[in-house]
Amino acid sequence: MKLIALVGLFALLSTSAVTTEGCEVSDEDQKEYKTKHVIVLVIDGPRFSETFGDTTCQYIPHLAKDLAPQGVLFTNFRNNGKTNTASGHAAITTGVYENIKNDGSELPKHPSMFQYYLKTSKLPKQKAWIVASKGKLNVLANARKKDWFNSFMPSDYCGPNGNGDEYSPDIHTWKVVLEKLRVDQPNLMLINLLEVDTRGHSNDWPNYLEAIKRTDNYAMQLWEFIQSNDYYKDNTTLIITNDHGRHPDGHKDGFKEHGDGCEGCRKIYMLALGPDFKPNRVITDEYEQIDISQTIAKILHFDMPTSCGRVISPLFD
Ligand SMILES: [Zn+2]
Ligand SMILES: [Zn+2]
Repeated sequence: MKLIALVGLFALLSTSAVTTEGCEVSDEDQKEYKTKHVIVLVIDGPRFSETFGDTTCQYIPHLAKDLAPQGVLFTNFRNNGKTNTASGHAAITTGVYENIKNDGSELPKHPSMFQYYLKTSKLPKQKAWIVASKGKLNVLANARKKDWFNSFMPSDYCGPNGNGDEYSPDIHTWKVVLEKLRVDQPNLMLINLLEVDTRGHSNDWPNYLEAIKRTDNYAMQLWEFIQSNDYYKDNTTLIITNDHGRHPDGHKDGFKEHGDGCEGCRKIYMLALGPDFKPNRVITDEYEQIDISQTIAKILHFDMPTSCGRVISPLFD
């Protein structure tokens, strides 16, 4: 009895701390969540003006009409760091805005949620997966920081051959996603789909819009898979978001490019569905990419002391 009281007292006393990186962390409650698995779907580079910023949501019918009513939608979500693919994804996975090279030649400095998760859970690397259309995103599996380089790395399949080279059509990536979900049953997964971004860079407006519709369809398929699979049903949180937006019309090259600090590049959305959230809510408070992994860490019960993000508390209100 006495030992339990002492453990409880220690837990109370250690409710908050300041990390060596100077970022506040708090882990005041050790609530049990229904969520046992988290999947993050990153749709690469749509502008908010073609997603939830368009009141008709004509290019994202599933996200707007089928998925948002089952989840919590954040309409003031932001990339407040470097608005390109590698840095945007790294902000999501590490909880730190790092300006890393966008060609896949530079690892993030800080360890990712995958590394912290595998270290804490002691699970094999098959339980944490990165599947990306863009080969260069295999940098997300590793970190430069001492004691983390080449350690606790998740599984990854990035690019058409899974080896970190080149770009893959989303349709191929999707087959890999479904195979990994069925065979390895990861508890933590990040998926990148590239076609919205690549059609944008091709300055191909009709196909850019079609790609937004196709990714909307993949998001729906993913949620349907989750809810029809015995391992994932009713115990999986799905987070759908973007790595960055794009320039607004009239600014530089408009929808063709991105990468600066303009509002079009910064503003994205985040939609979270899962058994621990109240459905059908829209949050207009500002949250940002670095908050995602800190929130996942709370749900899956591990710590990310190097993260600069906050727990996205309106999810749990
Ligand atoms: Zn791009
Ligand atoms: Zn911009």
